Amino acid sequence: MKRRSLLKGLGAAALTPSLSFIPKPKKDTPVLRVAHITDVHLKNDLGAPKKFERCLHHIQQHSPKVDLILNGGDIVFDMNKEKRSDIDAQWKLMEMMMKNENDIPVKYCLGNHDIWWNEDSKNEIFYGKQYSLDRLELKEPYYSFKQNGWKFIILDSTHQDIDDTWYIGKLGDRQMQWLTTELKNTPKKTPIVIMSHIPILTSVLMIQDNVVNRWEFLGGDMHTDCAELTNLFYEYSNIKLCLSGHIHIRDKVVYNDVTYICDGAVSGAWWDGIRRQTKPGYGLIDLYADGSFNESYITY
Ligand SMILES: [Zn+2]
Repeated sequence: MKRRSLLKGLGAAALTPSLSFIPKPKKDTPVLRVAHITDVHLKNDLGAPKKFERCLHHIQQHSPKVDLILNGGDIVFDMNKEKRSDIDAQWKLMEMMMKNENDIPVKYCLGNHDIWWNEDSKNEIFYGKQYSLDRLELKEPYYSFKQNGWKFIILDSTHQDIDDTWYIGKLGDRQMQWLTTELKNTPKKTPIVIMSHIPILTSVLMIQDNVVNRWEFLGGDMHTDCAELTNLFYEYSNIKLCLSGHIHIRDKVVYNDVTYICDGAVSGAWWDGIRRQTKPGYGLIDLYADGSFNESYITY
């Protein structure tokens, strides 16, 4: 064969790779598209209602459309630092907006700001978690449900600190037992998404100004039972994704094949711009029948 036709032959071979080299389309269509909104911190101030309305409309304009909204907590601005009459107003505003500006089903998780902690008010109707649970029509602050072949486990992150004065991130014995049983009873082939308000595992706590020779994390910033939870998750390869908020900074950590995503905040820096480099936004997640997913952080 002449050199020219040899090159021509090689060129043709290079241009028409055999079928085995053509990457197969990685995914089919998702079985479920989820919007993860967290840290909305809604109140009638700081332009929050208008901006949240924009966010809800943004979520509803996607194609394919979003099937489910997961609200990751800190639903209202703050039950502790507001006047009592304002707490009621914040919840009414949230209910009104979700009714008038949104058509997608929503599942909720409690955040630390959705819980009234003030110790000298134990007899108030606002005290503890019951008030928010009633408003959200939830029986328990942790629960699970199935949708389109995926299982969703919603956790209750916020518990009183050891000295009872504030909160830390943990499940507590009763919920840990429930979660263990729940995982055990889920078929191994059913992929699982877990949502908590406080991150189970996040890297962003390490981004601190003026570190000299050590980092300091608060027990309220990440799950203090992180080791126990990651040990438990190691037993279940069907746990795919753990979603959280709370920090208002977006990050993604993969540990033992579980992806931990802290999905920024709808409110950004509490309705005052950007929190470090994270803009106000929400997570958009496509879940597939084979247990894989695609996800991105969407600013609105
Ligand atoms: Zn929070």
